[in-house]
Amino acid sequence: MSFSYISHLECPKCANIYAHHELNQLCECGSPLLVNYCLDELKKDNEIIDKERNDLWRYHKLLPVTDPDHVVTLGEGMTPLLPMPVLGKKLGIANLFMKDEGMIPTGSFKARGSAVGVSKAKELGVTQLAMPTNGNAGAAWSLYSARAGIKPFIVMPLDAPAITRKEVAISGAELILVDGLISDAGKIVASLVKEEDYYDASTLKEPYRVEGKKTMGYEILEQTESHPPDVILYPTGGGVGLIGIYKALKEFRELGLFKGAQLPRLVAVQAEGCAPIVKAWEENKNESEFWENSKTAAFGINVPKAIGDFLVLEAIYETEGCAVAVSEEEISQAQRQIAELEGSFICPEGAAVFAAAKTLREKGWIKADEKVICLNTGQGIKYPDSVTVQPPVLQPGEVMPKE
Ligand SMILES: *Cc1c(COP(=O)(O)O)cnc(C)c1O
Ligand SMILES: [Zn+2]
Repeated sequence: MSFSYISHLECPKCANIYAHHELNQLCECGSPLLVNYCLDELKKDNEIIDKERNDLWRYHKLLPVTDPDHVVTLGEGMTPLLPMPVLGKKLGIANLFMKDEGMIPTGSFKARGSAVGVSKAKELGVTQLAMPTNGNAGAAWSLYSARAGIKPFIVMPLDAPAITRKEVAISGAELILVDGLISDAGKIVASLVKEEDYYDASTLKEPYRVEGKKTMGYEILEQTESHPPDVILYPTGGGVGLIGIYKALKEFRELGLFKGAQLPRLVAVQAEGCAPIVKAWEENKNESEFWENSKTAAFGINVPKAIGDFLVLEAIYETEGCAVAVSEEEISQAQRQIAELEGSFICPEGAAVFAAAKTLREKGWIKADEKVICLNTGQGIKYPDSVTVQPPVLQPGEVMPKE
């Protein structure tokens, strides 16, 4: 019985193999590396899931950290799967659910990737790391790094949500702002990593963030054991969450823990102002092109070119899913509607997913009786500027003006 059944790292492009107990970034061919586990061995273990743990570490046998002492946790995972009956009725989707990642440390699902990524970095002896971010990942990696005693260097766009800047700052991490996009932040990190001894924690340039994010897929399958979903919709920036969920579904199927006839159809949702994956999918391509002048209020999905785009597209094609872009107006409408009808103040990225569910139902791509799970990836309260209000202001003693 091992704490982890990790076996090795493998390149999905050229099938090169790397050791997991050494520091690795990309494959020499330039592709991200994915983690493999000894699933045949794990099958013989009489307890695959550690049900005594009520966080994502219940899946520690399917996670890369080999020594429990290296686990860095703030209690992330096992988020609720909420029925959305009122909204579902309105959209004509009777079985509509929200996997609510707003209920997680740091207020976004980036906590999953950083919990596992930082833990493995600690196990590998990393003392300082650098990363570009649209905000939430930088916040999460800074706070988890603080807990691990690792020194982070974070570069984010000037326009990223202000609260994430503060989360980075209060953790004591080094912070640089760039008057540009996450791709510009990426260039700064790349030169820093080249000149100084930093571990590059950029999306998919280290192989373990995706392992943390995949636990959303395990949880969904555990939470819907007797009736798995037909469709899962995900707001796609770098696409790590979608790549992870697809990996999780396949791993559970191989372990005999997925009993459905076919895997849920995976849907990548993007904003019309930044939709490189949608464009590639519509053109039936296996890779995306850089999206010029990208812009959306759903900041987490403003990624003009994702290094793992071919893996996102593979997940969509293999599950017979699709990719959809929604407008800024649809995003803010959905955000308001979900708060009004279901009492949840979700982030714009999560709202984009519900807007896409509406579109796909109208087109008939989602059927009325299908079970649909929308991923809300973060808290609305991290984006105070997504709502504007001007209530009347009274002086003390003044009464409400009559209409
Ligand atoms: C980062 C982020 C996303 C996109 O995640 P990827 O896995 O990079 O596609 C979606 N929503 C929020 C709130 C995010 O912070
Ligand atoms: Zn390779």
